[in-house]
Amino acid sequence: MLHDTIWAPWRLSYITTSKEQPPAGCFLCRYAADPAHDAENLVISRGKRTFTVLNRFPYNNGHLLVSPLEHKAHLEDLDDEELLECMHSLQELIQKIRERMSAEGFNVGVNLGRIAGAGVPGHLHWHLVPRWTGDTNFMPVLAGVDVIPQSLEALRQVLIGPQT
Ligand SMILES: [Zn+2]
Repeated sequence: MLHDTIWAPWRLSYITTSKEQPPAGCFLCRYAADPAHDAENLVISRGKRTFTVLNRFPYNNGHLLVSPLEHKAHLEDLDDEELLECMHSLQELIQKIRERMSAEGFNVGVNLGRIAGAGVPGHLHWHLVPRWTGDTNFMPVLAGVDVIPQSLEALRQVLIGPQT
């Protein structure tokens, strides 16, 4: 618990709030339907059928969620267009993060169902987590070191800019 408060305060906040009072509705649906507030919702891009948002509770700097706009829980519910657009988004984001943030590797994955760790089990999304040598794997040992060196807003600017 001490480690949580030192090196992952955003995780602690998530853990302590989400179980006691589940958020009203689905935040991905709320963000998807509200493009006027993309900046404050940390949405970084939108496609025809999908969109990408920064995770407010990141495992690592640059942790993104790629999701269909529509509220769909199961991988088999996604149609070809949604699947292809999600994969293209992941490709583009990986390339961008590698170039702009010098990421050395990535974890890409989907948690299907609450038992598998899905925080929003009703609305499927891919996690994209950039990795660098010596990143969060070592944080329990190096308590007190700042894991996330960049604010979410600064990160959003890195990923959406320069505007063309
Ligand atoms: Zn939803």
